[in-house]
Amino acid sequence: AHLEQISQTDDKVEAYVQIDTETALKKAADVDARRQAGESVGPLGGLPIAIKDVLCTKGVATTCSSKMLENFIPPYDATVIKKLSEADGIMIGKVNMDEFAMGSSTENSAFKKTRNPWNLECTPGGSSGGSAAAVAAMTAPMSLGSDTGGSIRQPAHFCGVVGMKPTYGRVSRYGLVAFASSLDQVGPLANDVHGAALLLEAISGHDQLDSTSVPKDVPSYTSNLEEPLKGLKIGIVKEHYVDGLDGEVELTVREAYKVYESLGAELIDISLPNSKYCVAAYYIIAPAEASSNLARYDGIHYGHRTENFENMVEMYSRSRGEGFGTEVKRRIMLGTYTLSAGYIDAYYLKALKVRRLIRNDFDDAFKKVDVIASPTSPNTAFKLGGMINDPMSMYLEDIYTISANLAGLPGISVPAGISKEGLPIGLQLVGAPFEEGKLLRAARMFE
Ligand code: GLN
Repeated sequence: AHLEQISQTDDKVEAYVQIDTETALKKAADVDARRQAGESVGPLGGLPIAIKDVLCTKGVATTCSSKMLENFIPPYDATVIKKLSEADGIMIGKVNMDEFAMGSSTENSAFKKTRNPWNLECTPGGSSGGSAAAVAAMTAPMSLGSDTGGSIRQPAHFCGVVGMKPTYGRVSRYGLVAFASSLDQVGPLANDVHGAALLLEAISGHDQLDSTSVPKDVPSYTSNLEEPLKGLKIGIVKEHYVDGLDGEVELTVREAYKVYESLGAELIDISLPNSKYCVAAYYIIAPAEASSNLARYDGIHYGHRTENFENMVEMYSRSRGEGFGTEVKRRIMLGTYTLSAGYIDAYYLKALKVRRLIRNDFDDAFKKVDVIASPTSPNTAFKLGGMINDPMSMYLEDIYTISANLAGLPGISVPAGISKEGLPIGLQLVGAPFEEGKLLRAARMFE
């Protein structure tokens, strides 16, 4: 049914970059046969899952929507992909994204523009735009994305689906092509909170192959999901309601807070005084790490190699010049600059100190509240082409999501309403480290 839905809608939405119908159907038949024979079937029981093209899939091209990796076929599966198969989930296809996960609209893909299923003139958000659009177009009930500064939550908000970034270290990054390693996390998108909980449960857990993954047991996120949280304390951050926040988005989240109140939750005003620095700190730290991570794409270790060179230096620079798109180049230049000998103290090391202050603010806040509620991003889905030549506005898309990455915290975006123009609006909830269970239950109460 989902393959049929792809054939009916994906020529308009263009979420998928690759579909292997035969393998998917074979796996589905296998799960079905085992079920018929009364054998045990994993918790994902044959569900089709769309995979962001940033996750390594053995024998299946993994491009990061970049010309640089156009011909890269990984010889191994990412840990999350392995776990999906073990749980009997089925990869239905690989989906589009901003090149190397840099962007907020999926327009930085080197291959195609994905459209928002709610309005085909709008972007699906990004960088996991293909993952969100696939779920919204009902071509997959769930998908995997990655979130470095908001790339799961913002597209979930744009496309009216649920998207969750887990605590840093909850999910293995092994086989996730690195953008900014201290911020990147893989997470689920789904058409409801239950789907997100089910998928998160399947992919979470310690992994020897990722030294930053945390050796902590994975609770069952689905088993007590339906139990409402008694006495839930929700933090409302006073710094969040500023110029630049769309009126309808503000109204919708404020309505959502009232719904929580009517369910018995307590709203508590809090302050995150350093949150105003989060975009600035992120756009120092993420490009710095990216410039280092992307050094491996030199046409020799990895990636596209130019055909047109006279000597070694020319070979390196032309390969990188031809392989990377504009935004990726901008990030590499920013990153190499802020890490360079004369500037590292003023920029990179300063940003790390700000990052610590942001985390301290959250630690204080979570002494008073269980979760923090906010808009997911300041506006609803914008038009294709509307922001792509304005990197500053694009970076401000992340103003509500980035601090959770800087502080390593879990965050979820859940649909909260629809604008007058018919575009979805999400509500974001952020929790204390490893409180995914509480976050999912809080989101489910509202759903
Ligand atoms: N929009 C942010 C950026 O461009 C976040 C991307 C992400 O989370 N991968 O860096």
